[in-house]
Amino acid sequence: MPLPHYRGRFAPSPTGDLHFGSMVAAVGSYLDAKAHGGEWIVRIEDVDITRCTQASAVSILKTLEKFGFEWDGPVVYQSQRTAIYQDYFNTLKNRGIVYGCACSRKELAENPKGIDGAPLYLGKCRQGITDGRAVRSWRLQVPDDAITFEDRIQGTQTQHLAQDVGDFVVLRADGLFAYQFAVVVDDIEQGITDIIRGADLLDSTPRQIWLYRCLDHTPPSYAHLPLAVNSHQEKLSKQTLAPSVASHDPVPMLRNVLSFLGIPINADTDSLADFWKLAISSWDIGKVYKKQKIESFL
Ligand SMILES: [Zn+2]
Repeated sequence: MPLPHYRGRFAPSPTGDLHFGSMVAAVGSYLDAKAHGGEWIVRIEDVDITRCTQASAVSILKTLEKFGFEWDGPVVYQSQRTAIYQDYFNTLKNRGIVYGCACSRKELAENPKGIDGAPLYLGKCRQGITDGRAVRSWRLQVPDDAITFEDRIQGTQTQHLAQDVGDFVVLRADGLFAYQFAVVVDDIEQGITDIIRGADLLDSTPRQIWLYRCLDHTPPSYAHLPLAVNSHQEKLSKQTLAPSVASHDPVPMLRNVLSFLGIPINADTDSLADFWKLAISSWDIGKVYKKQKIESFL
């Protein structure tokens, strides 16, 4: 069966209920897929089982249903895909582009900070680890070169992985595969052509593009939506006490999401089906605010 010309996805982490910020990513990815006559897949990103709960996953799916989202195919759970990640990891290992790292969190904390605020990895274990030290995590070698991509909303983006991040972890010290790695494997396996998500992941994209290249796959197209932040410029999340979306009256919330993005729906309707019809026909990603953060008053 040939792949559809467009396959998008929404990939929430089940660490709490959906809030306004996650609804922005759900709506943006859904409308872009539907406006292209494409498929839209839901994937539960619970690879980090230490932070995720089954109850949150159930609550997220229920909320999506009540908001009238229709997804294609079964919902995929990262926690059930360890064998697939292991296969892809073996490919990297056989190519000699991942290596064991013995550095502890404490040692790494002495390094300068990288682009995402985490310690920059300076390549200490790249040439092997010294006697008496044990492998803790596995890192992927990055090129000493800039990675550039065209974001459909944020424009041209460039990052120098070696200077901005360093060799990064694909298999963690606790034995779990790293988020960056699992996401890319899933997007490859699911044939995702277009990724629409929040701008908090803009910094991760060059690492993910590098993973695509290392695995001999063409990266998808990317669009990073403005991130909903509170008055302290913090991402809305369970940690910053963002309220859960109430699903008893979905249309006003969906209207707020589209106004937040810069594509207000002015027609007067209370019907969810009519709302989605209107929203799909008026979706124009070129009109989305070209900002990485917007304060949300919800
Ligand atoms: Zn190391």
